[in-house]
Amino acid sequence: MISVAEAGVAIAGVIPAPCAERVPLGQLVGRVLAETVRAPFGQPLFANSAMDGYALRTEDVVSATRGQPVSLAVVGTVAAGASALPTIRAGQCAQIMTGGRIPQGADAVVIVERTSGFADDHVEIYEPARSGQNIRRAGEDIACGAQLLAAGAVLHATEVGLLASIGQREAAVYRRPRVAIVCTGDELRQPGQALAPGQIYNSNGPMLRALTASVADVCSCELVRDQAKQLQEYVARAQQDSDVVLLSGGVSMGRFDHVRQAAQRCGLEPLFWKVAQKPGKPLYVAVSQQPRKILFGLPGNPVSAFVCWVEYVMPALHAWQGIQQQTYRAKLKAPFPRDPLKQRFLPGRVDFGDDGLEVLPAGKRGSHMLSAATAANCVCAAEPGERPLQSRDMVRVRLLPNVGLSQLVAKESRTEPL
Ligand code: AMP
Ligand code: MG
Repeated sequence: MISVAEAGVAIAGVIPAPCAERVPLGQLVGRVLAETVRAPFGQPLFANSAMDGYALRTEDVVSATRGQPVSLAVVGTVAAGASALPTIRAGQCAQIMTGGRIPQGADAVVIVERTSGFADDHVEIYEPARSGQNIRRAGEDIACGAQLLAAGAVLHATEVGLLASIGQREAAVYRRPRVAIVCTGDELRQPGQALAPGQIYNSNGPMLRALTASVADVCSCELVRDQAKQLQEYVARAQQDSDVVLLSGGVSMGRFDHVRQAAQRCGLEPLFWKVAQKPGKPLYVAVSQQPRKILFGLPGNPVSAFVCWVEYVMPALHAWQGIQQQTYRAKLKAPFPRDPLKQRFLPGRVDFGDDGLEVLPAGKRGSHMLSAATAANCVCAAEPGERPLQSRDMVRVRLLPNVGLSQLVAKESRTEPL
């Protein structure tokens, strides 16, 4: 039996180096940028109006007041997108709309509310203007050649917008691993089917699929009987179609636990079996060398499967895409069990308290009690030890993907990475 730390190191050692692919804008959210993106031109691209109003010369309206307005000749209209522009000479102005290019000669925009209104020949200006007023200068947001996004950045909606703003239709991101999910168990039926006595629903399949889909590509999700030959066929097929095979159940000591044998018969070499942890002790990981494939045999108990996914599978799927995950220390809001020899895991809900992260671990301890993970946004871990931890003691927490992550990361200065 190996330790949790040794298991993590062993898995990290078999993750292949991330490789890049080009992906269209519509599919970039959550992906990791594989290239540094620089601005091919400044933003704004050209000086333009920040408001609807009149583009004019400030020197023409120095004396303007509401009582004694300055009358200017209107020599054109500049809509957003207009390419033909009037030239503004002494005593002249042009109507201009937000986003319209500033015409030659004009050095300010007076908003329409401070004039007699939009008219086609003459307009009365009610106040003086400062040079540059209501003008968005070319390059004031982003200088030409400036770094827009760094390689390694996780793309969100605004980064996708930024890529679009420089005319990119796609970006180079790290390839997501393809994951095939196989749930084993004679007792399992799919939701919607009728249950015979002794049977239960396959809850791990949909749970693992939902978890995995948030960080990788799920290519299949199957349910298989505890039948050695059949399982071997499923594993062989799953392995062909994917980079990672995620199995649930069938890795313990039971007479019908065939996962390890099936993996080995499919040519996978065991990396380890059994980790000093609770829940999740029978975790099994096997690998093939060329091409690199990883098989995770997660224990079937739902909380064990959940905890093992968060602790081992998620970091592996992230590392595949070049993301190194952090864990954090959080102060317990309730006692936490410990084991003299095994690391203890529990789902928990982490939040910011007065002086850093605080976590409420699940009250239910059974590895079959999936309701313990309701509303969880992390998995808490306590090193082996003789007595339970108490409120205000510290535990390590690993955040779930996408759940409350941005909120917590935004305040990361108050967290302490381990
Ligand atoms: P196993 O790891 O196959 O020995 O299963 C351990 C426990 O988890 C048993 O009580 C199983 O019925 C249960 N279990 C296994 N697979 C699933 C699943 N896909 N969904 C829900 N419970 C499961
Ligand atoms: Mg089973």
